[in-house]
Amino acid sequence: MSLLIKNATLLSGKKSDILLEGGKIAKVASSISSSGEKLNAKGKLLIPGMVNTHTHAAMALLRGVAEDLQLSDWLNVVWKYEAKMSPQSVKAGSALACLEMLKSGTTCFSDMYFHMDETANAVQQSGMRADLGYGMIDLGEEKKRKSELATAEKFVKEWNNKAGNRISCSIAPHSLYTCSSELLQQANSLSEKYSLPYHIHLSETRKEVFDCLEKNKKRPAYYLDSLGVLSNRTVAAHCVWLTKEEVRLLASRKVSASQNPVSNMKLAGGSTAPMPEMQEFGMNVSLGTDGSASNNSLSMFESMKTLGLLQKNARWDATVAKDSAIFEAATLGGARALGIPAGEIKEGKLADLVLLDLKAPNLLPSHSLVSSLVYSTHAGNVTDVIVDGKLVVENRKVLTLDEEKIVEAAQKEAEKLAN
Ligand SMILES: [Zn+2]
Repeated sequence: MSLLIKNATLLSGKKSDILLEGGKIAKVASSISSSGEKLNAKGKLLIPGMVNTHTHAAMALLRGVAEDLQLSDWLNVVWKYEAKMSPQSVKAGSALACLEMLKSGTTCFSDMYFHMDETANAVQQSGMRADLGYGMIDLGEEKKRKSELATAEKFVKEWNNKAGNRISCSIAPHSLYTCSSELLQQANSLSEKYSLPYHIHLSETRKEVFDCLEKNKKRPAYYLDSLGVLSNRTVAAHCVWLTKEEVRLLASRKVSASQNPVSNMKLAGGSTAPMPEMQEFGMNVSLGTDGSASNNSLSMFESMKTLGLLQKNARWDATVAKDSAIFEAATLGGARALGIPAGEIKEGKLADLVLLDLKAPNLLPSHSLVSSLVYSTHAGNVTDVIVDGKLVVENRKVLTLDEEKIVEAAQKEAEKLAN
């Protein structure tokens, strides 16, 4: 099956035709003819689909449940809700999240949560791409550790490379403060065994650093390194309270960072991921939204803009976090972090693409398409989304999902949780 995109505008400003075949970008040229299906992209900007490298999709149901609270109080509220979440609620929340992500130009996301079969089912139906991991927590209990590792491995066996390879898995120990050193290490063995990303929260708060120093006499990055769990498979979410030397260490181990600027600011993390140093030391930088309880939006456009504003303001330097680097973090950087050949419009890459309405008032004039993408675009500008070479959103309508049903189910499940 092939799909020919005609007359699209690329970020370079050039007009181009793009032929998609077998889920991949087969050809990019000024004019291509094909007898297959065609999509007229005149007046539209074609970009690689965005890759959200850190979220908890099912938390879409918890949007707005814990507002204006300090992190410890926020956690208490969220945990209270999560204790009530059934497979049915994870199913409803994940479907709602897929809908929101597709409509805002995200084609792939990396998720860490529980009842992950339901999230996988939602992804399968949606036509999206995702890297999914069961979030493990043992709080130092051996029995719990064994069952968590077994659940994680069972999920990998069932879902890795499924849905026509759109679903891959990761190994996801939650964090160094909820997982024992044994769990962190055994999780790494699993990640090595199956060659899967090792997705973990790292240095999100100052408290995490202080507690780690007290308990392990090492800062978080050094502690993880002493356990031997840092590698090119590691995707470290947040990376906010890192020293320059920790960034150097993470970069030397080829760890990817997932920056989550909206979530960090909303929960008043008080510091900023050191993106300029990450770039200086050649660390792969990506972007995530985190869950909807600490971001309230899964829009990567919002996260890109916030990342730029936050970095510039925090460093008193408007030259840091250049628009092209931010856009790369949201696309190619994410694909690299997850080991997926996507994130750029190049022959041979996965055909995960997004079209935007270039005639929208907020995108005019087109002096700089990249800065428009990072600072002016919103989800409403997304017209069409292609994943794996197939149209998933056409003229703002999601073809794969029953929008009305999903919204209704999400509302119903959210009400159940609130009671
Ligand atoms: Zn998170």
